[in-house]
Amino acid sequence: MTDPRDRSDELEGRPVQQYVFDFSQGSKDDKDLLGGKGANLAEMTRLGLPVPPGFTITTAACRHYLDTGAEPESLAQEVGAHLAALQEKTGKRLGDPEDPLLVSVRSGAKHSMPGMMETVLNVGLTDISVIGLAARSGDNRFAWDSYRRLIQMFGKTVLGIDGEIFDERLEARKKARQAEADVELEAGDLRMLVEEFKDIVLVESGRDFPQDPRQQLDLAIRAVFESWNTERARIYRRQERIPDELGTAVNVCAMVFGNLGPDSGTGVAFTRDPATGEQGVYGDYLSNAQGEDVVAGIRNTLPLADLEHLDQASYDELLNIMATLERHYRDLCDIEFTIERGKLWMLQTRVGKRTAAAAFRIAGQLADEGLIDEDEALQRVTGEQLARLMFPQFDPAAPRDLVARGMGASPGAAVGKAAFDSATAVAWSDAGDDVILVRRETNPDDLRGMVASRGVLTSRGGKTSHAAVVARGMGRTCVVGVEALRVDPGERAFTTPDGTRVVEGDVISIDGGTGEVYLGEVPVVPSAVVDALHGDDAAIDQDDEVVTAVLRLMKHADGRRRLGVRANADTPDDARRARQLGAGGIGLCRTEHMFLGPRRKVVERVILARTDEQRTEALDELRPVQRADFTEILEAMDGLPVTIRLLDPPLHEFLPDLTDLSVRVAVAEATGQHDTEAAELLAEVRRLDETNPMLGMRGVRLGLVIPELFALQVRAIAEATADLRQQGRDPRPEIMVPLVAAVQELESVREMALTTIADVARAHRIELSIPIGTMIELPRAAMTAHQIAEVAEFFSFGTNDLTQTTWGFSRDDVEAAFFPAYLEKGIFGVSPFESIDEEGVGRLVSIAAWEGKESRTDLKVGVCGEHGGDPASIHFFEKILLDYVSCSPFRVPVARLEAGRARSDAGQREASG
Ligand code: PEP
Ligand code: MG
Repeated sequence: MTDPRDRSDELEGRPVQQYVFDFSQGSKDDKDLLGGKGANLAEMTRLGLPVPPGFTITTAACRHYLDTGAEPESLAQEVGAHLAALQEKTGKRLGDPEDPLLVSVRSGAKHSMPGMMETVLNVGLTDISVIGLAARSGDNRFAWDSYRRLIQMFGKTVLGIDGEIFDERLEARKKARQAEADVELEAGDLRMLVEEFKDIVLVESGRDFPQDPRQQLDLAIRAVFESWNTERARIYRRQERIPDELGTAVNVCAMVFGNLGPDSGTGVAFTRDPATGEQGVYGDYLSNAQGEDVVAGIRNTLPLADLEHLDQASYDELLNIMATLERHYRDLCDIEFTIERGKLWMLQTRVGKRTAAAAFRIAGQLADEGLIDEDEALQRVTGEQLARLMFPQFDPAAPRDLVARGMGASPGAAVGKAAFDSATAVAWSDAGDDVILVRRETNPDDLRGMVASRGVLTSRGGKTSHAAVVARGMGRTCVVGVEALRVDPGERAFTTPDGTRVVEGDVISIDGGTGEVYLGEVPVVPSAVVDALHGDDAAIDQDDEVVTAVLRLMKHADGRRRLGVRANADTPDDARRARQLGAGGIGLCRTEHMFLGPRRKVVERVILARTDEQRTEALDELRPVQRADFTEILEAMDGLPVTIRLLDPPLHEFLPDLTDLSVRVAVAEATGQHDTEAAELLAEVRRLDETNPMLGMRGVRLGLVIPELFALQVRAIAEATADLRQQGRDPRPEIMVPLVAAVQELESVREMALTTIADVARAHRIELSIPIGTMIELPRAAMTAHQIAEVAEFFSFGTNDLTQTTWGFSRDDVEAAFFPAYLEKGIFGVSPFESIDEEGVGRLVSIAAWEGKESRTDLKVGVCGEHGGDPASIHFFEKILLDYVSCSPFRVPVARLEAGRARSDAGQREASG
């Protein structure tokens, strides 16, 4: 671990001189410079595969252009030299009147940005060379269609003419010919269209369509550079978190044609099925067609296997090439190819995208085949993919009626009757019905309703709203912030944007992954992966290749990881589930719900007690139930650590609602029935009301103002521990103090806790030592970690509050209020509540962990905020060498996998090797 305060590791840029590389000069490792497409074309060329010749203009040239508004000085000359070589290789010349060379000019950035940037095909055609092409190909229609396409694409992309103007003219011609499809137009029609398109160019751009092929090429290259910054490309990059400064490479490649007759065609193929991971080639072929026709779905494609009957030689060659590529890339590859009059050409390859199920299956298969080792197999899958496999899903084939979309806050597919309050949800669920709890937003009182429901839907709030955090914790499907729905709890109904009214009892379906809300029931298919992860051997279907691959990779991840993985669990059921899912203990047991429901009244009495006797009486009522809570959880986690956090929320949450109470008192007064109890309660509720409760009297502050509450909890923990020990069990509680900002706060609570624990030990005649530590969730605590560690035996970073207080964001408000604007403006690519803000909040964590360990070398340091279950954050916590992460039980497998991946990736192997 390096000292996080040391910031001297600035990278130095290296000037790149050469701006153009022949396909034969690069390799797949040159993606930074040649882009993904260029690097892979170079790799295939190097492998001796049939790639049409060409060259790549580097991303550095693009960056130069974007920075300065002009191409690098040497670029024109370099392009000229490579063009000459290309002409030499193909034996054709750009613009030649007899037999012209045509080239494609395609974008290709380091990261795939499908359809986001520009391409110009058939560059090199002119009024003269089109005649040569017609003669050479023996196909007039083909030549004029190619020229028509060039003017259209060039006009749109290079000259910025509205594409619709060309489309309208094309449609008009089709109508005049009573043609349904483009292919029905004949050479004469296309020739006329060429003239019309040239007119459009002149009128719209004020210049003639260039008849100098080199000028066409140079302008097309520039247009591709510029397409890096189109609106849609920028938005895509922001969403995918691709840095804006990378720029695109440009690939200039000799054109080959799949539309030269029945012995030509074009297709896409995968070396394995990217949807299921099934072994065996898979793809589509379209004879007598160009690449765009396959994508546009103009005609029905044939399965790749049919190519065998159409052109056995090309088919065999293609299969050989695919096998070569897969062995070489050691992964699933997808390819694009064209057959020109019986000759196969490879136009593109890359490591292919795949579904979550396919990712696990393929990683397992490749490891079995010896192409990759287990470490690498682990790198081929992600925690997000695992999470996707863990949730039930809507049957993809089923029809559905989408009515609105919000934020997917906790994944899964849930179907049930809409219920608009907790009590109804509980009653219906008890009666055996599936329920979706629909609220504007939830609060702690909704907990029982949430537990009873299949899913939770709110019209307000963001991904860290109460509904989202609690639902994720319970593994309950949840969609939040569906602002388009008008939820009216009074009327027990909501209205959809098209005016449909959904009343209590109507069935709805919600998708917690996509945030979609449907009317009616959409059929759901359950997850076999979850059953297998629960360690239920009987439930494991050994023939289910997805399940066996998941288990195998989980085992490897567990063997690899250094980070411990604990769970945030507050109930015995959650504790048991977490343990089954592989949790190494509980990292955060929140205790607030233990004070709600029927017990809330007793807490109210503690707060409002006028005498010590009244208070002690209420506390005495709470203690046995608290002890029972802890006993059950400690039993479920026998032998493993359980971090119990003392009460955290603001006190007023345990008191009646201020508005309700005010109304009650006012009504009583108006009707002459003076209600003293209500009036006194109102005064107290008013006194404790806070404008900003999240920054008010909560956590340790509450514990210091009403010390009896913390003392009660500590005593209950100590007694539960002593009881279990005396029964021969191995309870391992840890006491955690929330919202500490100053060491003095912790000292004070620690002193009380030690006295209480000693008391219980004496009474039970046993030795009792329970570690006492603190949450680090305020910047001041992080900055004084050195002092706090002298008193704390462990730190647990509450990164939810730490994010809130470091940014000055109110967790419950900001996500709906302005995060969408922030994300759109690129202020951050992802909410800092979701993925740790490494530079700010992460730096505080890193400094506090470092300074804490400086003052106490055996200090245990973990994370229990939502980030503990987030893959990117887990990699960061591994990097700064924290001891464990803690997350909701359902995310425990995800965290185990990611902790293993973080450790086994190449960098880590080098560092530890
Ligand atoms: C935190 O702040 O990160 C935390 C775990 O506590 P809570 O979310 O309960 O405030
Ligand atoms: Mg907190």
